[in-house]
Amino acid sequence: MARYGMALDYKNCINCKACETACKEENGILMGADKHRIWVGTGEIEGQYPLLDLTSNVFQPSQCQHCDDAPCEDVCPTEATFTDENGVVRVDIEKCILCTYCMNACPYDARYIEERGMTVDKCNFCTETRLARGETTTACQNTCPTKVRIFGDLDDPNSEISEVLRVREHYSLKSHLGTNPKLFYLT
Ligand code: SF4
Ligand code: SF4
Repeated sequence: MARYGMALDYKNCINCKACETACKEENGILMGADKHRIWVGTGEIEGQYPLLDLTSNVFQPSQCQHCDDAPCEDVCPTEATFTDENGVVRVDIEKCILCTYCMNACPYDARYIEERGMTVDKCNFCTETRLARGETTTACQNTCPTKVRIFGDLDDPNSEISEVLRVREHYSLKSHLGTNPKLFYLT
């Protein structure tokens, strides 16, 4: 049992999109599909910080925030969306009826319709691929050339992510909504 999360040193992102490609390859997602599982965004969050600063070239990688209090899970009528024993918010494709309630409930626009499987899908921290094979990193972390992503167990005080969050300032997206994301943006 763990409580998996991810820290993002997003100011190091160079928008090469290697993470997006690795994610798609690892998890069997259609190459070139936009905003499927993970993406590199630009824009502003809550009017607090410019995520794309043309003078410093800052980008914002994003994906499912694996909320501890996930609104997508609350609205799912079939319990297809569930939080597993490691704190990962996942989708049971056998139970999904494609009602899209979760898509509407997610404040982070993290879900998409997987047209080939006809389910609503999202990032699952490579639980059914890399983690199932005993790997300890996600595809996106593993491939990032500038080491933006740190994935690990938030409940393990000795994990790299716990150590980083102890010493670096960080924030969560839309924290005022009370979703308690397990993604942390390092400042
Ligand atoms: Fe659900 Fe969206 Fe939170 Fe992910 S980011 S757990 S899809 S509400
Ligand atoms: Fe649940 Fe699927 Fe409906 Fe989403 S689309 S709320 S996962 S049944």
